[in-house]
Amino acid sequence: MLAMNYRGPQRVRADQKPMPEILHPRDAIVRVTRSCICGSDLHLYNGNVPDTRVGTTFGHEFTGVIEELGPDVHNLNVGDRVLVPFNIACGQCAFCKKGLYGNCHEANSQATAVGGIFGYSHTAGGYDGGQAEYVRVPYADIGPTVIPPGMDLDDAVMLTDVVPTGYQAAEMGGIQRGDTVVVFGAGPIGIMAARCSWLFGAGRVIIIDKEDYRLEFAKNYAQCETYNFLSMADPVVFIKKLTDSLGADVCIDAVGAEAAGDALQTITGRKTLLQAGSATGLQWAINSVKKGGIVSVVGVYGPTLNLVPMGNVVNKGITLRANQASVKRLLPRLIEHVQNGVLKPKELITHRIPLEEVSDAYRIFSDKLDGCIKTVLITPS
Ligand code: NAD
Ligand code: ZN
Repeated sequence: MLAMNYRGPQRVRADQKPMPEILHPRDAIVRVTRSCICGSDLHLYNGNVPDTRVGTTFGHEFTGVIEELGPDVHNLNVGDRVLVPFNIACGQCAFCKKGLYGNCHEANSQATAVGGIFGYSHTAGGYDGGQAEYVRVPYADIGPTVIPPGMDLDDAVMLTDVVPTGYQAAEMGGIQRGDTVVVFGAGPIGIMAARCSWLFGAGRVIIIDKEDYRLEFAKNYAQCETYNFLSMADPVVFIKKLTDSLGADVCIDAVGAEAAGDALQTITGRKTLLQAGSATGLQWAINSVKKGGIVSVVGVYGPTLNLVPMGNVVNKGITLRANQASVKRLLPRLIEHVQNGVLKPKELITHRIPLEEVSDAYRIFSDKLDGCIKTVLITPS
């Protein structure tokens, strides 16, 4: 089968690989119909996630058709159209039972790591992902969800990660009616977080990025205020001025580690900070939230991170909340929001590129070429 093949930092290509097989009675084999490239894939692509092995296939956002089922999967049928949450979760461990599907202990028992994630290195369980014609789906009785009749595949694939992550970012912010929310990062996740902030009653939503075209997109899609931090002497001072000197009620970090390092490098030219693991988006979030405010972090970071202004967290009494999204927990209400037209996630998809051209697809998304917000890889049918 054709599959994306990681060859080393910033080198990916489409190659023939062996077909996946059922390895466990709860497995399914899914024939992939859509798979996305995510900002999280860029951390892998740039070589910033430990234990990302050459030969791995990335891809944790995908839809497909059930091709084969293990004998213990009774809730699905061969031929079902499914969307598959990016979390691999057993549904039975202590964490899954609490709705923390992103922290499943069976899918990845390393105590300090996330749960299992498709195509996300051996630190997330070492599973191959869905940027391929076929993928093995473990615990298939838990994750894969039948796509409601009539739902567009482009909407469905956005329910595997972007919609739940954006929604959870807003949810973790504990937004109260009338709150001012500042979202750092106008990638797909930040844009969705901004849009979802209104659902929680925000009174004002502001999004910050360095890419004008993304800010323009965010303004239209999420109906929010937008600012380019490259035009600010100091983003924290700027946000304070916007918020009566008090700071925002809620700040959302939808940037993550090296994307932020990249931004810092743009401003200061100091590569060393990036190498040390910098976090400008997170720093700005912590420094510009008001006393007693909440900082919600969905941006992805490596195992360690320097330069977090912990003194400000303590002294300002900030609540810092963070996690991988728990897709399965959120799916019922988010499927409804998509069906009712409250969220129209497929509008974020700017690029549809054949899987054969995966190398170009990564370059376009990573380098933010050609107005790219979200890229979907189309598998040959
Ligand atoms: P993306 O790379 O497309 O977007 C990141 C955006 O941040 C870019 O537009 C970039 O210009 C901007 N940026 C860089 N530095 C910034 C700064 N200092 N302040 C403000 N903006 C800055 O990525 P995405 O797909 O939108 O994902 C965003 C983050 O969310 C990534 O870190 C990704 O790994 C993470 N993520 C987390 C989860 C989860 O479950 N927690 C799920 C999906 C994605
Ligand atoms: Zn993703």
